[in-house]
Amino acid sequence: MALAMTEGAFVPESAWNALTHELDLWQEAGRDATFWWRDDDAGDHTDALDALLDLRDALDIPLALAVVPAAATPELRTRLERASGISVLQHGYSHKNFAGPEDRKIELDGSRPAAYVIGDLATGAQALSGFAAHLPVLVPPWNRIAPHLLPYLPELGFRGLSTLGQRMKARPLAGLVANNVHVDPVDWRGRRTGRPGAFVGADAALADIIAHLAARRAGQADPDEATGLMTHHPVMETESQAFVRDLVAAVRDHPAARWLDASEVFDIS
Ligand SMILES: [Zn+2]
Repeated sequence: MALAMTEGAFVPESAWNALTHELDLWQEAGRDATFWWRDDDAGDHTDALDALLDLRDALDIPLALAVVPAAATPELRTRLERASGISVLQHGYSHKNFAGPEDRKIELDGSRPAAYVIGDLATGAQALSGFAAHLPVLVPPWNRIAPHLLPYLPELGFRGLSTLGQRMKARPLAGLVANNVHVDPVDWRGRRTGRPGAFVGADAALADIIAHLAARRAGQADPDEATGLMTHHPVMETESQAFVRDLVAAVRDHPAARWLDASEVFDIS
């Protein structure tokens, strides 16, 4: 059973019990707590990618892999052809940051002419169309996209959009389904752990998951938005792998919970 360290305090299982309790409440209400898993920043066939795909195989749940088109190599494509349970989503185009030094990072930005950004997205979609498991779903790098770009997405063929945090609308535009992720278990700046890129700890990660589930159940968030786990395999450590294993086990063992395939999440048949 997973144990978490919080500021020196030893916290046994309590957050896991809280997750089970929340799922029990879903069961009592006769509802399904839906989950999905999105991993970002795929480009090349690396050892970290192999570790991710091995983890997926061991867990045997669907995985949506957000691939950076400009970084995608033939070796990645070949590797994914012999992977199972994978959907390939589009992670922007180049994952370059076009924000100023003081601003939050963004690739799909408002500082460049829209035609440039749209052209990049179209080139990226073309590149990924050769991947067997490709789905027309856009995952903006850093989970940000300038709002004026959204109306172009259906024209470009996108049927889904995924950022971070609870969605405002299930269908922000005709033909486009939004489903976000709701937990980012990476301590990017090291504020919690002192180690940039480290796992935040099971308590913190579970708190975000439970908060989203509870908000869905209470109608404070869209009840039909699947709760999304985001991972980043290039920085995935042993501890975060263990967390994913424990989370999948906890969810799979509960009769009210299930993991969805990306095609189901984004209503793409
Ligand atoms: Zn990314």
